[in-house]
Amino acid sequence: MMTRRIAAASVVVIAALAVAIASGALSLPPSGLGPDRTAAVGGTSAIGSPSAVGSTSAVGSPSPGTIGGAPSAVGGASGSTSESPGAASATPGGRLAGGAPTSALGFRLRATVVPIGYPLPASASYRYGPGWHAFRLGAPLPYESVLGISRTGALLRAHDGVDIQVRVGTPILAAFSGVVIDPRTHWYPWAPQLYGNVVVIRSTEPTSIGYFAINAHLSVVSVRVGAVVRRGQVVGRTGITGNARGTIPHLHFELRAPFKIDQTWGGVFRRIDSFDPLPSLLAADRHP
Ligand SMILES: [Zn+2]
Repeated sequence: MMTRRIAAASVVVIAALAVAIASGALSLPPSGLGPDRTAAVGGTSAIGSPSAVGSTSAVGSPSPGTIGGAPSAVGGASGSTSESPGAASATPGGRLAGGAPTSALGFRLRATVVPIGYPLPASASYRYGPGWHAFRLGAPLPYESVLGISRTGALLRAHDGVDIQVRVGTPILAAFSGVVIDPRTHWYPWAPQLYGNVVVIRSTEPTSIGYFAINAHLSVVSVRVGAVVRRGQVVGRTGITGNARGTIPHLHFELRAPFKIDQTWGGVFRRIDSFDPLPSLLAADRHP
C-alpha cells in the first residue's frame, strides 16, 4: 500500500511539475533554496502520506485532527484568491473592527495586516531573511503549499513564514494576547523536525480573534500549552531547533488565519491558512 501511495504521489508531483513548467511559473534559481534546506530534504513518511501531495480534497476535508480545534465561528468560508497574491478581490469579505479579515473571501495573501505586537524586543538587532513562499526542499505537508519537484528530483515546498535573523537567545514576545496552543491539535501531521520547539498563540484580541502566531526553532519555551498570555510578554527565546541548525540563526514567524484560504501558486492549488506575515510585521516594527 505504501508503494502504491508513493507511486500515486509521484505521478501527481510530476503532473504538478508539468503544469508549473507549462505555466512558466517554475524557475529554480539555485540560490533560491533557503537556509532551511539542510534538514528539509527527505521526509519520506510525508511523501507516503496519502494527503501529502496533490490531494486537495484531503487538505480541504475536515478529517479529525486537521485544523480541528480552529474556531470556525470567525469566517469559515473559503474564497478564491488570484494567482497574483495580494490582488484585491471584487467581493471582499468582512473585517473585525479595526482589524483582520473574518473570512477568506477577498483575502489578500501578501497585503493583509493583522494587528500584532512585534515578536522581538525593539532593542534587539535583527534583519529580515527569507520570506513567505521562498523555495524550500523537502516533503510538503498537508497544510502547506507545494510547488512540485526540482530538476534534481527533490520535492519543493513553500516557506510558510518569514525568517527574522537574530542572535540565539533573544527573548520572543507574544504577538497577541491569547492562549498558548499545541500545534499538533490544530495541524496534522505537525512537523517538529522542521519547526523544532515552538510557541503557538491563538489570539483573543478583538482585532485578531482566532488568528494564530507561530514562533519556531526556539531554544527556550517559557509558557505551557493552555497558558493565557498578554501581548508583549516573553514566551521563549530564539534558537536553532528543528531544521534551523546550520542556518543563520533566526526566528521563523508565521501568521495563520482561523479559516482556510484558496491559494494557487506555481500552478498548484492548495487550501491552507497561512499568509504572508511580513506586512503585519512591518506595521508593528519599531526598529530604527
Ligand atoms: Zn523559516
